[in-house]
Amino acid sequence: GRPLLEVNDLKKHFPIKAGFFGGKTGNVYAVDGVTFHINKGETLSLVGESGCGKSTVGKTLLRLYNPTDGQVVLDGQRIDDLSEGKLRPVRRRIGVVFQDPFSSLNPRMRVRDLLAEPIRNYGLAKNGADLQARLDKLMDTVRLPRDAVNRFPHEFSGGQRQRICIARALAGEPELIICDEAVSALDVSVKAQIVNLLQDLQKDLGLALLFISHDLAIVEHMTHRVAVMYLGKIVEIAPKRSLFAAPKHPYTEALLSAVPVPSPGQARKRIILKGDVPSPIKPPKGCRFHTRCPYAFDRCRVDEPRLQQTSPEHWSACHLHDLPAAENPLARDTVL
Ligand code: SF4
Ligand code: MG
Repeated sequence: GRPLLEVNDLKKHFPIKAGFFGGKTGNVYAVDGVTFHINKGETLSLVGESGCGKSTVGKTLLRLYNPTDGQVVLDGQRIDDLSEGKLRPVRRRIGVVFQDPFSSLNPRMRVRDLLAEPIRNYGLAKNGADLQARLDKLMDTVRLPRDAVNRFPHEFSGGQRQRICIARALAGEPELIICDEAVSALDVSVKAQIVNLLQDLQKDLGLALLFISHDLAIVEHMTHRVAVMYLGKIVEIAPKRSLFAAPKHPYTEALLSAVPVPSPGQARKRIILKGDVPSPIKPPKGCRFHTRCPYAFDRCRVDEPRLQQTSPEHWSACHLHDLPAAENPLARDTVL
């Protein structure tokens, strides 16, 4: 069937005000032409270093930002150009969990009201008894005691607070949840519990997840497919196993080289990238990664690589793919 979410050439540019940047105006090219899809019940992870634009993708899908260009299609309906009034029924279908459960929950509201607010906003509860039944069910779903709805956010631990955020994200009965570094601030053991909860919810409720994270070890544990972003663009997108076993893009190879592996015998050679990520105000010409790529050659400095299919469902944007296999250091076999 058709994907639940289709994102086509999405762009989000933030204008810079005159005077801020040497008196000239310009743009921050935070998201600069991103295309992907998410199937029903699937997890797609969006990975990359901080500042690569992955959070901006999430916020633009949620219409917390209006896109500069491109299309977003949810279940066959374009949502990128909907007016605020027409967005309400769409907002119900996409939940979100952010990194910081402290700042995402209003400290003056009891959990009951934090959860009742979206249920009321979306007009889901038929009456008081239905509202209560929905609150009970949400607390059961995130495995918190039902009577905890009478407490305030500060009375919970960080992990419990993130469960409340997940319950709030579920209140509208969404089909997709965007998790933006949703477990990054949690302790290791709590992190594992929340990841397991998200996986169970996905199975039980048939949810799709967009899992935005810089933590590739967790991504490997829980995702179906992975999209790797660098400076506002997706440079590689592939099923998890194919990407982790045989990355096709030099940036992905470098990112993966830093992920700890369970047995030392399988350790990857660590690739240390030179320099910092260039500014998204003036991204490098040609391949945006050429200033740091260990394999860059002349063409990379002038010609922008497009995503090309290297095996079924595996796409990568790199000029190495046009060289004979013997000259491409990443031309190893894809594992399916
Ligand atoms: Fe490196 Fe060139 Fe490939 Fe870019 S196109 S990732 S610079 S080899
Ligand atoms: Mg971020």
